[in-house]
Amino acid sequence: MPNPAWYSHEICFWHDPGPGSGYVPVGPGIEPLRQFAVDPDLRRSEGLVKASGVMDHFTQVSPVPASDEDLLLVHTPEHIDRVEATSALGAGDAGVYAHVNYHSAHAARLAVGACVQATTAVLEGRFDRAYCLVRPPGHHAEPDRAMALCLYNNVAVAARAAQRRGARRVLILDWDVHHGNGIQRTFYEDPDVLYLSIHQEGLFPPASGLVTETGAGPGAGTTVNVPLPAGSGHEAYLAAITRVVRPAARAFAPDLILVAAGVDASGHDPMGRMMCTSRTFHTMTSMMCDLADELTAGRIVFAHEGGYSAWYQPMLVLGTATAIAGLPEPQDPFLHSLEHLPGQRLRPHQNQVLERLESRHPLLAELTERAP
Ligand code: ZN
Repeated sequence: MPNPAWYSHEICFWHDPGPGSGYVPVGPGIEPLRQFAVDPDLRRSEGLVKASGVMDHFTQVSPVPASDEDLLLVHTPEHIDRVEATSALGAGDAGVYAHVNYHSAHAARLAVGACVQATTAVLEGRFDRAYCLVRPPGHHAEPDRAMALCLYNNVAVAARAAQRRGARRVLILDWDVHHGNGIQRTFYEDPDVLYLSIHQEGLFPPASGLVTETGAGPGAGTTVNVPLPAGSGHEAYLAAITRVVRPAARAFAPDLILVAAGVDASGHDPMGRMMCTSRTFHTMTSMMCDLADELTAGRIVFAHEGGYSAWYQPMLVLGTATAIAGLPEPQDPFLHSLEHLPGQRLRPHQNQVLERLESRHPLLAELTERAP
């Protein structure tokens, strides 16, 4: 059985983007309601992992805040100062739709710290897999600006920290329903980091994450975007892993795998229009752990990103956690509400995206040509 670790910290749950409605700050025409990105959902997720007994299979670790040295691996000093100063005021936007409260700067350093320390522990062989249940999320944060709930880019910093510790080639898979523009931008010209993103086509940021964005300069071919049409479900996601992620990973031969493991591509999420279930997340997680066993001596770290369904997010985190622990998928009382829907099957217009990547992405087309 695997020896996985679980990284989380109470203060991550104290970060709060402030009063809003959905994700929009209170203002003209907007009565205060409930922010989607709130700590109770994270607490409920961790609570379910504990109540189900699955946490007993993990070693729980409390991270320490990331240092300036860690943050500077990706971010500019001005960006770090802006996050710290806005948070010290107790409220405000530290970037573009990146609202903070008094605890946010501390929480953001803990979120990065968790991902860096989990990655280090996996590289040193103390654990073979890890899950980081962190807030705020990270994949939209760019080197010089916070964006869309993300303050620091947790996974990007972890990748750079891994390289600092001798893991030369890092594969990052991002299955959050939004495109991880911050991760892509950080590594767009880097030949040693392969960034793969499976996201809803045209969702957020607008015009970001196109199939034609494949890396530049020395990093040409090391960015792979899989923009699936709205309505894609279980089969489309598994096909993306089988036909795009797996062959690309084998061709790239990474030393470490990091997964930006948002759970907002579910059929109950208010921020996306996808159809995934706990079974999808369990299966994708198992496939990635198998790939890590094959390519990286099992070294793989999952970091929480988006997830906005108050009722379904805990079950999706449990689906991910059970697979990391090598356990069967959980009993999911919500599964019946999603699994019979026709969108769970791979549809021709979804398949077209995969076929285009197979035939024309520089990293994959070469393999297709070589195949008998
Ligand atoms: Zn997201």
